[in-house]
Amino acid sequence: MSYNLTRRKFLQTASLAAASVPLAKIARAEQSSLTRKPFTAPGSFADTRTVSGGVCEMCFWRCQLIGKVRDNRLVKLEGNPKSIENGKSICARGNAGIQLLYDPDRLKYPLKNVGKRGAPKWKRISWEEALDESAEKLKTIQKKYGPHSVALFPHGASAFYPLQYFEFTGTPNISEASFYQCRGVRDMAYMTTFGFAPGENVDMANAKAILLIGTHLGENVHVSHLKQYLKGLENGAKLIVLDPRFSAAASKADIWVAIKPGTDTAFLQAVMNRLITTGKYDKEFVARSCTGFQEFKESMSHATPEWAAETCDVPVAQVLQVADLLGASLPNVSVHPGRHTTWYGTDFQRLRAQACLTAILGAYGVPGGLIRPKGMKLGKKGWGHGVFAEDCDLSTFWPFHPPGTPTDAIRETTLTEKPYPIKAWIAWGQNPIQTIPDQRRTIEALQKVDFVMVTDVMPMDITMYADILLPEKSYLERYDYVKTGMQWNPADKPQQFITARMPLVEPMFERKDSVWIINELAKRMGYGDKIPVNSIEEHVDIRLAEAKLSIAALKKLDGIYLQDGKSPYAPAGKREFEFETDSGKVELYSEQVVDNNFPGSPAYVATEEVPAGFARLVYGRSPVHSFSRTQNNSWLHHEMPENPLWLNDQSAAKMGLKDGDRVMLINQDGIQSRNSTVVKVTPGIRKDTVYLAHGYGAMNPELTVGKGQGIDDQAVITRFAIDPETGATGMRTSFVKVIKDGRTLEIPA
Ligand code: SF4
Repeated sequence: MSYNLTRRKFLQTASLAAASVPLAKIARAEQSSLTRKPFTAPGSFADTRTVSGGVCEMCFWRCQLIGKVRDNRLVKLEGNPKSIENGKSICARGNAGIQLLYDPDRLKYPLKNVGKRGAPKWKRISWEEALDESAEKLKTIQKKYGPHSVALFPHGASAFYPLQYFEFTGTPNISEASFYQCRGVRDMAYMTTFGFAPGENVDMANAKAILLIGTHLGENVHVSHLKQYLKGLENGAKLIVLDPRFSAAASKADIWVAIKPGTDTAFLQAVMNRLITTGKYDKEFVARSCTGFQEFKESMSHATPEWAAETCDVPVAQVLQVADLLGASLPNVSVHPGRHTTWYGTDFQRLRAQACLTAILGAYGVPGGLIRPKGMKLGKKGWGHGVFAEDCDLSTFWPFHPPGTPTDAIRETTLTEKPYPIKAWIAWGQNPIQTIPDQRRTIEALQKVDFVMVTDVMPMDITMYADILLPEKSYLERYDYVKTGMQWNPADKPQQFITARMPLVEPMFERKDSVWIINELAKRMGYGDKIPVNSIEEHVDIRLAEAKLSIAALKKLDGIYLQDGKSPYAPAGKREFEFETDSGKVELYSEQVVDNNFPGSPAYVATEEVPAGFARLVYGRSPVHSFSRTQNNSWLHHEMPENPLWLNDQSAAKMGLKDGDRVMLINQDGIQSRNSTVVKVTPGIRKDTVYLAHGYGAMNPELTVGKGQGIDDQAVITRFAIDPETGATGMRTSFVKVIKDGRTLEIPA
């Protein structure tokens, strides 16, 4: 049985090479005001005008902003004081949005590649020419090979309308990195267990204990989320961190479990077994709101503390300490669902375990637990559902796949033309070179197709492979996203908000928004009579109308509408819930999973051991970057110009390496990193593991700040593991050695 989940339903539950012509040269005359200047303190903002209605997109969290504008130029960004979510606070990346807005390297005009893919020569063309040529190529490909011969890689709020359009034209081959290389597996595991996708909605601010599994809050910075976390710690919540690395979160932990990578599920099984055998689980919640407890209990019974300790390479005492602390804190426990969760290709099982642990602790709908924030209802109008040709859906192999098609299925189908040809790739705000593991295969696919169209704000590694390159307005120059939510601290007076992204300044050059671009493309592809909205403003107004609001009304309200809300907690003594699972209960044992030939309760599946002489490469977030998207931002680059390689101090001593040495990496397939970085020698990482922040090492020479800075982890992640339930790509399955001064150094065990 396939899970058969529509994207809409899912979302409802979740909350250039040396030969090229430099882009900057194309626009030299018009951009004299955009030359990069050294950072100077901005001085007074007394003579500025305040513009409200901004919504940040330097990361996906979407904090509400105001802008200080002088002479039609944005000079400062701040949190919107009316926001009940981020308030006046924004993070370093949010602040540095101005540097994205005025980056001299930004895309300014439609461009045509008259060189080669990967080594482009850009010719400035008009929008008419760009759209005519793109539409003609796409129509020809779809006519010859079928509508499903077009693949789309979207990312971000502005890509939603293009996503709808291409799905409407008949292709299921749409792959969002935020699903298949990030959170999709988490959401599917929780949907299977609880019936809804959890987001990051755990009430850390009011928890007695917080469990972070590979989640490094502090390096992973999202403003209101950090406010919740820090409030919880301030209130005395005990913090447990499972991480092979002494992360920012581990440095604050009461218990840091330096767990062997890939064994988290075994650890969780032992914790759950201990809770059950000692009777320290929430019996009332389990009896009333869960199903399959008996089967679940039996499937955990092998997981003794000793077994887990050996499997996970941790002390037995830590297994007991963690279980006992969680048991003593129930139900007010935040078992954080995580965000980037595609690790080992066994992730559905681990995330099912996290969800089940949440359930047996009764940590749902209570202070500190998993909650479902209530936002306000928004209107809808879009391209409607796509009708796919029979048997063209590549995703059916993975019964619990998130919306869209697993990325690797699209890439392999492109390369093999089996079961059918995919002849056009479109990237919209996504950089598949750095989101998808094994760059060689991605580049091979990009070289194979008949047409590549890319829309973006900045030059990225993917833009080097475009035939037609379209410049998009940035999030500070456009309308698009409507956000609804509640106050950051669930224990405060319940309130709800609606905000819509509105431009803080006028766009420069020939940048357009996604609704305009898609509508113009649609007209040329023969879908002019099906266009659902005429402008992005109309789209936003339709969404707001459901709440009796409009852009004009929101502007008068400083960009944010507030009203009384509902508490996300169940009333005291009334903990009866109806879940949107098949059984209406939390499924500790899932018949639906069994029907698809997977274990009904979360199972530990061992991942490949680290070969002798290598260490496992793990990666994560930097607090001042949003992966590859911000590498060219001069303020952020100044804060963290490259990504040091974390290496265990004892290993480093045996290898003759010291802090600050420059090294490269080579992986198990003999693939070397393109660039070098510095070593960070530390006792705060296991000997079998090395760590890098992800997103560095861009290869596009049009990125005059970020190009070649640090190591691109994706260049050496050539081995990956597909999660069999969801099709998501586990990417912590590559192993590396270190190269110093041309010599390859083995990493001692
Ligand atoms: S957390 Fe930072 S980058 Fe993300 S939306 Fe908020 S201010 Fe912007």
